[in-house]
Amino acid sequence: MKTSVSAPVVGYYGQFSRDQKVFGEKGDFITSPELTQLFGEMIGVWVFHELANTGHKGSWQLVELGPGRAQLMNDVLNALAKFNDNDVSVHLVEMSDALIDEQENFLCIYNSENTKGTPHVRKNKTRTGVNIYWYKSIDDIPDGFTVFIANEFLDALPVHQFKKTGDLWKEVYVNLTKEGDLRFMTSKGENLHTKGLIPAAIRNENSRLTWECSPESGTVVNQIVDRITTFGGFSLLVDYGHDGSRNTHSFRAYKNHEQVDPLSNPGVVDLTADVDFGYLTTLVEDRALVYGPIEQRVFLTQLGIEHRLRRLLQICKNREEQEQLISEHIFQILLNPFILESYNMLIGDMGTKFKAWALFPKTLKFILDQRGGPVGFLSKEKAEKKANDE
Ligand code: SAH
Repeated sequence: MKTSVSAPVVGYYGQFSRDQKVFGEKGDFITSPELTQLFGEMIGVWVFHELANTGHKGSWQLVELGPGRAQLMNDVLNALAKFNDNDVSVHLVEMSDALIDEQENFLCIYNSENTKGTPHVRKNKTRTGVNIYWYKSIDDIPDGFTVFIANEFLDALPVHQFKKTGDLWKEVYVNLTKEGDLRFMTSKGENLHTKGLIPAAIRNENSRLTWECSPESGTVVNQIVDRITTFGGFSLLVDYGHDGSRNTHSFRAYKNHEQVDPLSNPGVVDLTADVDFGYLTTLVEDRALVYGPIEQRVFLTQLGIEHRLRRLLQICKNREEQEQLISEHIFQILLNPFILESYNMLIGDMGTKFKAWALFPKTLKFILDQRGGPVGFLSKEKAEKKANDE
């Protein structure tokens, strides 16, 4: 899975080119930020609001993991520009050079070259005037107060699959047939991975016959927590996933929006697995405050996405005001004729399948408890009270 998804030459994202579309209507899948600017704007507002509530003053780093075509960062930056923040720098973690080119093209005025001998592989300025850096690994990001965001990043990281036969847990492998085709097979018995990765709680669940986990996602989440607990900051990850209750395997593949055999065309089909936020929570809850997973629908609604939609629709009707807004560079208004349809997808089907999950350092516990949690993750009572107050 790792090679097929992320190897520089043969991997799915490494092969990205404008002709062979990956994202969007003509590609293999569509993501929330690709669907509508509303998603990125809401994430931008959330980041700024939570930042203000930490009381942090001075410089801060906004990190996005796996930015794809950079639509999310573009919309977040447009939202942040409204707050006149001069202390932010942007840091993108991306392993595909082809996508780094695409992101730079979209976010910056000029193209540049990869640098050598620096922790970052590229440096530039965004159209909104913010310093922007690219890295191949989270480890290379400089120390400092950091806010992490990612959408549909963890689901691309490799998973291990396990199956129970009798009392024994076996690992599912990918092997070759005599003809040289890929096929699934299982280990003869328990191995290092079944013994090292499957938690006691899963083994003790009698009815459970399958389990899937991504230790690589665990490493990423641990790296985030190490940083936010050492230098300050917080994180918001949004992904297709569940709270640990899914008891079937989810590793699958897409091509042209259709589900296909994941072993059929490695490097050409999009491979994905649902994120097990329950498992990830067990890895960090001793060191971090964990909020969610909560449905994207609930998260975006608490943030007031409906108000923003209404405003956009109104602007679409009123050309004069629209031109004024554009000239003031408040938000770049996309005259998307499908804005209502996009909104319905974001809040409807995608709104229940996608989950938001946030991490904060435990030092912020008192403040966050007083607030009833970060916005988007408020308890039902607090959310209702907030809506009534407004
Ligand atoms: N966030 C984007 C696209 C998600 S697709 C959106 O919402 O539209 C997954 C992204 O993660 C791609 O940019 C891919 O190149 C990147 N990616 C996948 N595996 C990675 C890895 N191991 N390290 C860094 N980036 C990775």
